[in-house]
Amino acid sequence: MSLNRREFLKFGGTTAAGVAIGARGIDVAPVEAAATSLKIKEAKVAHSVCPYCAVGCGQLVYAKDGKIIDIEGDPDTPHTLGRLCPKGAATIQLSNNPLRPTKALYRAPGSDRWEEKPLDWMYTELVKRYYDTREKHFIEKEKGKDGRDVTVNRLEAIASLGSACIDNEEAYLLSKFNRTYGIVYHEHQARV
Ligand code: SF4
Repeated sequence: MSLNRREFLKFGGTTAAGVAIGARGIDVAPVEAAATSLKIKEAKVAHSVCPYCAVGCGQLVYAKDGKIIDIEGDPDTPHTLGRLCPKGAATIQLSNNPLRPTKALYRAPGSDRWEEKPLDWMYTELVKRYYDTREKHFIEKEKGKDGRDVTVNRLEAIASLGSACIDNEEAYLLSKFNRTYGIVYHEHQARV
């Protein structure tokens, strides 16, 4: 259907009015509550904490037949009263996500196309390249201002970028891992 601007505004206004009448004329709260309770009926609930950031919002995790079926904010959490930010509200995708890639995408040096590779191949390749790069570029000592050797144990040839998809514990381990290997360039796009 193609609409000109005037028709579009008229159409939008009518739709908005319809929604407003619907929302005011019919109390959908019991229906929504029933739909939610049906979904989690007979599910086991566990109290948990959102893994993503230090706000530490409480969550209720519902599981049925060994599978997580719903995660929502825990209303007993004093500082959030059951609210979650959009990231926390999507926590279920850590467990159930049909869109999660299951193969690695690899573009060889000089190539203009991506190839699908098995994850095991990618892990082996990462370890190999990581090891080779560290062996080649690790700086054990460098000259200080006074000309004497100073132990620095530094690796400048690898940089590490954290992800908003990793949780607090993973970010902690990544940071420890980087320090252990001497990496000095490590960053996280979600830090505050
Ligand atoms: S719900 Fe949002 S604000 Fe709360 S802990 Fe998770 S990421 Fe942090």
